[in-house]
Amino acid sequence: MSEKSRKEYKYIYGPVPSWRLGSSLGIDPISGEGKICSFDCVYCQLGRTVLHTKRRKVFVPVSKIIKEIRSLPPVKIDYMTFSGTGEPTSAKNLGKMIKAVKRIRKEPVAVLTNSSLMYRKDVRKDLSLADVVIAKLDASSERTFRRINQPVEGMKLADIVRAIKKFKTGYKGKLVLQIMFMEENRGYAGRIAQIAKEIGPYEVQLNTPLRPSVVEPLSRKKMIEVGRYFKGMNVISVYKSPRKRVKPISGEDTMRRRGKV
Ligand code: SF4
Repeated sequence: MSEKSRKEYKYIYGPVPSWRLGSSLGIDPISGEGKICSFDCVYCQLGRTVLHTKRRKVFVPVSKIIKEIRSLPPVKIDYMTFSGTGEPTSAKNLGKMIKAVKRIRKEPVAVLTNSSLMYRKDVRKDLSLADVVIAKLDASSERTFRRINQPVEGMKLADIVRAIKKFKTGYKGKLVLQIMFMEENRGYAGRIAQIAKEIGPYEVQLNTPLRPSVVEPLSRKKMIEVGRYFKGMNVISVYKSPRKRVKPISGEDTMRRRGKV
């Protein structure tokens, strides 16, 4: 692609070789200069949260996202994935975006969420339009939740777990749990696995910060130990999953959102 056409991609990035979704085209419904999120996770590859909020609002009009997707060159894509520079459910028009993407593309739609806004009916309704919802759960106690995810004032892990369960009840797609393990929560793997079992997701994704992060990743051996607690569940682990070889349409935009191409 020419330099000019590369710069035109402002809201989409990749496709990236995702260990969970194959060749994944990223759609960023926030697309801010800095991160906008209800969390400020200690391991976040995007650095510190610039706008720490649980308010929903429109950041990017649906038409702009669709215009970029329409101009995509013919590349192999397995999933259209909402993620990017913050929490995608913060975008008030997420549901409209998912519907619009589904009208013009045949690939399944995935949303990566930190689960924090799932207590809202409008957020659950938007997420129910996606084929796959990958929901974050990194802790089993309020204390560890606050230390790892650093949520906005007043957010409780118990409310989030309740909301994930509620969402799961009526959801027709695949609900997946993503858990980031590090030294801080390694000792609570058994308790986190217990909560995961109560939720009953389609799949559990065990992760550790292998992308650029200030938090050290757990070793392969430690991740195997963690994985033992999830026996009997459908588990994939970041160390074990093969990555597809895919070439992004814009390396620069991908770097900004993922910390690596
Ligand atoms: S929820 Fe995601 S975007 Fe938000 S701080 Fe955590 S890792 Fe970063």
